[in-house]
Amino acid sequence: MMSRPAATAGEATDTDDLVVHLLWINAGLSCDGDSVALTAATQPSIEEIALGALPGLPKVALHWPLLDYECGPDGGADSFIDWFHRADRGELEPFVLVVEGSVPNEAIKREGYWSGFGIDPATGQPITVCEWLDRLAPKATVVLAAGTCAAYGGVHAMAGNPTGAMGVPDYLGWEWRSKADVPIVCVPGCPVQPDNLSETIVHLLYQIAGRAPAIPLDENLRPAWLFDRTVHEGCSLAGYYEQGDFSAVFGQDRCLVKIGCWGPAVKCNVPKRGWINGVGGCPNVGGICIACTMPGFPDRFMPFMDQPSGLHTPETDEGLYGILIRTLRGLTLHDVEKEPEWRRRGHELTTGYEP
Ligand code: SF4
Ligand code: SF4
Ligand code: SF4
Repeated sequence: MMSRPAATAGEATDTDDLVVHLLWINAGLSCDGDSVALTAATQPSIEEIALGALPGLPKVALHWPLLDYECGPDGGADSFIDWFHRADRGELEPFVLVVEGSVPNEAIKREGYWSGFGIDPATGQPITVCEWLDRLAPKATVVLAAGTCAAYGGVHAMAGNPTGAMGVPDYLGWEWRSKADVPIVCVPGCPVQPDNLSETIVHLLYQIAGRAPAIPLDENLRPAWLFDRTVHEGCSLAGYYEQGDFSAVFGQDRCLVKIGCWGPAVKCNVPKRGWINGVGGCPNVGGICIACTMPGFPDRFMPFMDQPSGLHTPETDEGLYGILIRTLRGLTLHDVEKEPEWRRRGHELTTGYEP
């Protein structure tokens, strides 16, 4: 399927006949968790994106292994993988290349391959994920890294791994820009928060259609408006932290910093946004933040469930501070929990009203 070129950012276009292809490679070192997460998005949902329910959004052709029913033989016309070959031949314009999973280093292995995606019709051999990146990234309008593995390497890139795994920016280069001058867009999370991914996809689609400005990204290539606050700043347990009231074991419904929560030093909106349809959000529901959106995840945050070093202030670490604050607040609370004294039955007006 051929479609006409997208406008550059800021140049409005008639989206009626614009088709943007989303080519999704989930064959990096991946557990498919980000694909599964996207099926839970509600603001907007993937159905709303795919079925064109959002005003002004260009039509979307999803080539996504999780849901695609085109599963013919490799290399055959209309097979799932054929869309990737068409993009490689320059026949799809525009397209967004979505990568899920970390990128193994094929240059270090002695034989075989670390991860492949489809078969090369000419050789009958698997095409590696690295090769797809080499072929398609220069032709893509946008490259989107979905999940922490694709963004920064994630769990597969831990110290001691044999694959030399890395994130897409590590592979293509952090300064890499697409032919449309768009940097790699990273939406981390392990898995990604569903609405963070769907909202980013929508922004990119509007941008490609010339109906949205260039996506603002932070220094780690995350959408800035989604990752500009810490977990701690949105946590429903932050009041307990502030008054030095900490859980010593799970299930105590107090701040979790002493049992391993990294929230004060982690950029993630999950406590504010919830997980599915506004519900959930790690510490809000009693789970420590293990920093899954961060470039240093997981190595810099292990061992999980140990108290993070350097997070608590001297005041909150000092038991007396918490006791004093809670006692003073208890006195104030006792006072303000009473109704004013003039609210009672009787024949005398005691509200202070003066005619
Ligand atoms: Fe799976 Fe997490 Fe990697 Fe996504 S980031 S592929 S959920 S391990
Ligand atoms: Fe901060 Fe974590 Fe405590 Fe919440 S549970 S207040 S994020 S340290
Ligand atoms: Fe990951 Fe922490 Fe955000 Fe939970 S709160 S999704 S563990 S970064």
